Amino acid sequence: MNQRILNEIRELKAKRKAVILAHNYQPAEIQDLADFCGDSLGLSIKASKTDAETIVFCGVRFMAETAKILSPDKTVILPDRWAGCPMADMITAEQLRGLKQKYPGASVVCYVNSTAQVKAESDYCCTSANAVEVVNSLPRDQQIIFVPDQHLGKFIAEKTGRDLILWPGYCPTHILISEDDVKRARHVHPEAVVLAHPECSEPVKLLADVLLSTGQMLTFVKTSPAKQFIVATEVGMIHPLKKVRPDAEFIPAGTRGVCPNMKKITLEKVLASLTNLQYEVTVPEDIRLKAKKSLERMVEILPEK
Ligand code: SF4
Repeated sequence: MNQRILNEIRELKAKRKAVILAHNYQPAEIQDLADFCGDSLGLSIKASKTDAETIVFCGVRFMAETAKILSPDKTVILPDRWAGCPMADMITAEQLRGLKQKYPGASVVCYVNSTAQVKAESDYCCTSANAVEVVNSLPRDQQIIFVPDQHLGKFIAEKTGRDLILWPGYCPTHILISEDDVKRARHVHPEAVVLAHPECSEPVKLLADVLLSTGQMLTFVKTSPAKQFIVATEVGMIHPLKKVRPDAEFIPAGTRGVCPNMKKITLEKVLASLTNLQYEVTVPEDIRLKAKKSLERMVEILPEK
């Protein structure tokens, strides 16, 4: 059954001149099917450099929007129209405009996990990997609004020693990973290194040995001498981690770190998306240009990233 679907996807992919992207949190079979796996910005940049006419983004809506911002001439499709990110949707452009009015001198840094409209209202975009560098690049006396993730915001504030104006957004999946989950896993695997994503709650981050973005986790385990790792992020991440360290054991911190939106993408939906070119994600041109500017400002600060 799967083999038939996979064959049909491959045929249609060639016909549509498509590139398939899969976020690190996607189900294993989707990651194995994809041309590129990784984080949302890295994937969008890679896709923009291909000559593909169609981008199938196996992830959530803001990721497909980011791909469209960087590839306006390509058709971008999201295989499940309802695959959204509750955290990205926790702040609207209107709410951000209200915050800017309240703090008129402040610069706005938005996490890439935000809508195109929010990116368009922001001065700088950042990822969990480069957020600290982006904030550190701004003058010390510059007031900074950071949206939408309060937990990543607190991590940046701590690392930079700066007082950020935070929005109370959060990832509903990462905050389900509890302190007790990590303690229990550590009790069973006392030798394991605990890797946690900065989107986790503060008590979980305090228990972690290292706080890393998904890309940084892959780099870290590649060179770490450890043989066991407790992983406090979305469980899909274990699949790419195992690929880079097949000899190591990866233990999820509890069972609740599952993003239901990421798991909406199935092989059947990828096939349907290529058959019907559904569901196309578009970004109005004025919003796209402004949102692109916030991404470009980030790249200017971090020319090598
Ligand atoms: S894991 Fe969290 S931040 Fe990522 S898509 Fe799901 S809800 Fe959004």
